[in-house]
Amino acid sequence: MAQAILNTMHCPFCQNSDTKVVDTRISDDGHSIRRRRECPKCSKRFTTLETTMLLVVKRSGNVEQFDRNKVISGVRKACQGRPIKEDDLKALGQQVEEDLRARGLAQVKSDEVGKAILKPLRDLDEVAYMRFASVYQNFENLGDFQNAINELKADALQ
Ligand SMILES: [Zn+2]
Repeated sequence: MAQAILNTMHCPFCQNSDTKVVDTRISDDGHSIRRRRECPKCSKRFTTLETTMLLVVKRSGNVEQFDRNKVISGVRKACQGRPIKEDDLKALGQQVEEDLRARGLAQVKSDEVGKAILKPLRDLDEVAYMRFASVYQNFENLGDFQNAINELKADALQ
């Protein structure tokens, strides 16, 4: 019966093909969804584990699986010397992943990942945000920095 539990379609107890989802949880690493299901025929409950795919299309055209840890390590570099806790980085990584997954797409462009990072990072720390944005948006001169600073200031006044 262990094999039947892996099969998301059939009840492992009575083999009924129609099951109802009673609870859904995304794992901490975001790579799998655990669903608690109930069989409407025999009323027994069981759990299924489903892997969810979120692919990132890089500028080079290469495709790789989304990795929250890569987001976190990229942001961590921008946060060096800033008063940002490891928990803040984890929360940011989770926020970015949830944002991307909420779009319901199987794949996103790496640009979209960068954009999804900018907003929560800005809320977290403006200096780290400027560092990250300067790399991600290819700032080339002081004018680019000045424009980004002006945007931050304009938003702060609102
Ligand atoms: Zn059943």
